[in-house]
Amino acid sequence: MPLPRVRIVTLNAALGPLDYRVPDGVHVEPGSVVVAPLGPRQLIGVVWEADRLPTEEVGDNRLRPFHHVIDVQPIAAPLRRFCEWTADYYLSPLAAVLRMVLPSAGALEGSRQLTEYRSTGLVPPRLTLQREQALQRLAGRQGTIRELADHAEVSDAVLRGLVNAGALEAVAVDSDRPLDCPNPDFAPPDLSPQQFEAARSLADAVGSGFDPVLLDGVTGSGKTEVYFEAVAECVRQGKQALVLLPEIALTEPFLKRFEARFGCQPSAWHSGLRSSQRRRTWRAIASGEAKVTVGARSALFLPYADLGLIVVDEAHEPTFKQEEGVQYHARDAAVMRAKFENIPVVLSSATPAIETRHMVEIGRYREVALPQRFAGAELPALTAIDLTQDPPMRGRWLAPSLVVELEANLERGEQSLLFLNRRGFAPLTLCRHCGHRFQCPNCTAWMVEHRLMHRLACHHCGHVMPPPKACPECGEEDSLVACGPGVERIADEVAALFPEARTAIVTSDTIWSPARAADFVEQMEAGAIDIVVGTQLVTKGYHFPNLTLVGVVDADLGLQGGDLRAAERSFQQIQQVAGRAGRGDKPGRVLVQTHDPDAPVIAALVSGDTAGFYAAETEARRDAAMPPFGRLAAIIVSSEEQAEAESVARRIAHAAPEVEGMAVFGPAPAPLAMLRGRHRQRLLVHARRSLDVQDVIRDWLAPIEWSAKVRVAIDVDPYSF
Ligand code: ADP
Ligand code: ZN
Repeated sequence: MPLPRVRIVTLNAALGPLDYRVPDGVHVEPGSVVVAPLGPRQLIGVVWEADRLPTEEVGDNRLRPFHHVIDVQPIAAPLRRFCEWTADYYLSPLAAVLRMVLPSAGALEGSRQLTEYRSTGLVPPRLTLQREQALQRLAGRQGTIRELADHAEVSDAVLRGLVNAGALEAVAVDSDRPLDCPNPDFAPPDLSPQQFEAARSLADAVGSGFDPVLLDGVTGSGKTEVYFEAVAECVRQGKQALVLLPEIALTEPFLKRFEARFGCQPSAWHSGLRSSQRRRTWRAIASGEAKVTVGARSALFLPYADLGLIVVDEAHEPTFKQEEGVQYHARDAAVMRAKFENIPVVLSSATPAIETRHMVEIGRYREVALPQRFAGAELPALTAIDLTQDPPMRGRWLAPSLVVELEANLERGEQSLLFLNRRGFAPLTLCRHCGHRFQCPNCTAWMVEHRLMHRLACHHCGHVMPPPKACPECGEEDSLVACGPGVERIADEVAALFPEARTAIVTSDTIWSPARAADFVEQMEAGAIDIVVGTQLVTKGYHFPNLTLVGVVDADLGLQGGDLRAAERSFQQIQQVAGRAGRGDKPGRVLVQTHDPDAPVIAALVSGDTAGFYAAETEARRDAAMPPFGRLAAIIVSSEEQAEAESVARRIAHAAPEVEGMAVFGPAPAPLAMLRGRHRQRLLVHARRSLDVQDVIRDWLAPIEWSAKVRVAIDVDPYSF
């Protein structure tokens, strides 16, 4: 039945829902994606059930008709309910959530063909600096003029010039080529009896309604093989499966593994897609053609035509928490989406979050366990190196006993991994003469020296400066010293110790695309690397059978700062990096450098008492009524003017309601008191579990006003604080 008028949620977060008249003869239903006029603009929006949205006071006679309906599948009711839940729970505008559903809105219209370009290899006779830069950066790349211009950091005009000069050519984009369909029976694995049981339990859940499952398997137990069987079952039933990964760097190895099992690649969804790919993938997901999608957290909001299964791989990873815009946690939101879609959701992890384990304990999630490694591989033995007893040489960072092990491993022709969660060469540069420290002008953070890239960089805002020759404060030359190690410095130390060893540095600076990650994996598999020095990027998912030694350079690093999750996070990280060792038929060893071998985290790792560690952490959380036993929300007030941020934060604090079971702390400078040039004040709300803290915050903030220069962001269930 055609509706005479409809309420539309646009993608513009500054606008509330708007009412429109349905043009004569046009059919719409809830979920239809439409284009509607607002003043001179054309807005994209989604038709929503009017009774679920606040009423607008618009007289019928003033009601304009919307323009037309876009030819895509309507956004289905379960996804609309999920959007409402996300907006409510994370205190965000519905429009902001909808933008994640329709991320390529501009490209949705019609079958508009995008023209993409790539270089021909021809060098134009007139070669300006900009042209040269463009040609250098665009080698082997393809994309629209806009995308290429962004990538090359030149203007569109420069590229148009290159097109005219024959150095770039247009390529036809065949966006309607049908996708390959994964074959669930292409290459089924031989599962161990334990894996078989686990796989059956997951596969049985497909098609039987909402069923949140923790797939709790030690590193190397074959969790991927096992959940692939549930994916296969989902494909057999003709439904779509979604696998969320914590890091796009893991996409490429995942695609290869998927292809080996299913005979073709799944659809990939991440920020690195070109707009033509994005549009194509979005449409394939919405039409149901894309049977399996692998993606970063944002893939959770796409309009799957017939979703049958969600898997969250490495579900404990903090990267699933979005820290800007809608500050959702994709792990928690995945469970909610599964609930609305009435489908199973698998959280896969060797080191589940305390919150997730708790859900198992109280019977809300089912647990499927894989307590042993596949093919009889043993979990690696973990030993602490007490740096107070076995200190590195002056100016060095690796303890003698670790160096001995590295050498032995090199001689055996086995691979080693040194883990330090710090990019760059040194986290701090200071002047020995006057004590000046190089700080970011935009953030409360030190400038980190990146020797490979010849610069100092801020890891928070991206501010860079050339490496200083003299102290800007006292003018002294040769007085600047690098303090502390980053991975580049450790790599230097390794090179000095073992000049013949082939080393690789693995951080987001060196592995910035799925293709680079694929190169790294290839080199490791070919045995072209002896020693990897890496950040948390190497702790995830990788499987290198010849990697037998892991050294944790600084196990104390993650424990500084006293964050609620510091111990849990350290435990997970070290357990994960340890899990890279000894995955093949050779046993692995893990050496953990620490100044405090008696710290509970280290002691638990060495003794292997995971259950004991979790129990103690859980008790500590219970005693303090911290999550999951209590609730937290952070209110961050920021402005370029410090006084303004402080005054709004104070006003918010003064207006805090007296609510039984809730306490408000602050305002105080946020942990990063200045970020990207904005001063940040924070209030922390701590509430008991049963309190509807969102409702309280909504009512509390509603009457408070602030100028456009001030931003107030609410972080419900903050990951760190
Ligand atoms: P996890 O994710 O639990 O750390 P993976 O799923 O990565 O473990 O499996 C570890 C390695 O063992 C992978 O190389 C995988 O291909 C292999 N593997 C696991 N189970 C099987 C199996 N049943 N048959 C063959 N190879 C397997
Ligand atoms: Zn900065």
